[in-house]
Amino acid sequence: QSNAPLLQMRGVSAGYGEMLALENADLEIRESEIVALVGSNGAGKTTLLRVLSRLLPCSGEIRYQGRPINGSTPDQVFEQGMVQVPEGRQLFDRMSVQDNLLMGAYHRKNRSEVAQDLERIYGLFPRMAERRKQLAGSMSGGEQQMCAMARAMMAQPRLLMVDEMSLGLAPIIVDQLMEVLLSIRSQGVTVLLVEQDIHLALATADRGYVLETGHIVRSGPAKELIDDPELQKAYLGL
Ligand code: ATP
Repeated sequence: QSNAPLLQMRGVSAGYGEMLALENADLEIRESEIVALVGSNGAGKTTLLRVLSRLLPCSGEIRYQGRPINGSTPDQVFEQGMVQVPEGRQLFDRMSVQDNLLMGAYHRKNRSEVAQDLERIYGLFPRMAERRKQLAGSMSGGEQQMCAMARAMMAQPRLLMVDEMSLGLAPIIVDQLMEVLLSIRSQGVTVLLVEQDIHLALATADRGYVLETGHIVRSGPAKELIDDPELQKAYLGL
């Protein structure tokens, strides 16, 4: 099934108790794409990520690498390469950068491969190589975000899901992180970029989905979404 999308959601709904936070969502991610999932606060973006990571039950169908994963556990999808960079980074503050990175590979058995990967990932994140002995909690917000992304890369992701990467960071740092995402993609990793900052996400992504109160209200090539007059009015303050 080499033509199948890497990830496909069909008619997916999920919620908390009586409340549906995601309703009848259709979404597709093809190999090597950067796909943006955008929407305001409370639109349901994190809910969709929880569903993908199998932390929240859902109705409808989710396929990954052509196979249904509705019955899979969070560990199983993680080991198959669906890896999240969580909102708020969630580093081990009192551990070194290097130990944080190694935590990303805790499940991997081949330690010499892990050691090689560590050097490869330091190549992607030279700042982390310089700081490898520093305690993660003592770094700047941008550096912590890089550390979280580097840790996720140590898990050998095939689909990297990045939640609110830009939150609270200066524009120049965000630009650097976006460059890193592009080099991650050039290494063959597919990226789902979840952002409140719709302009920022669409400027880097190939395609996008717009979520509003649990519904996907728009999708398409990122350029078309940026030029969409209704979206400009609703989100871009134009
Ligand atoms: P944010 O960027 O602020 O995280 P979001 O787009 O990720 O927003 P969600 O966190 O998915 O939005 O929330 C969608 C809706 O579900 C919101 O109305 C929220 O209040 C509700 N919600 C989220 N988590 C829970 C929970 N654990 N229990 C009850 N309701 C929840």
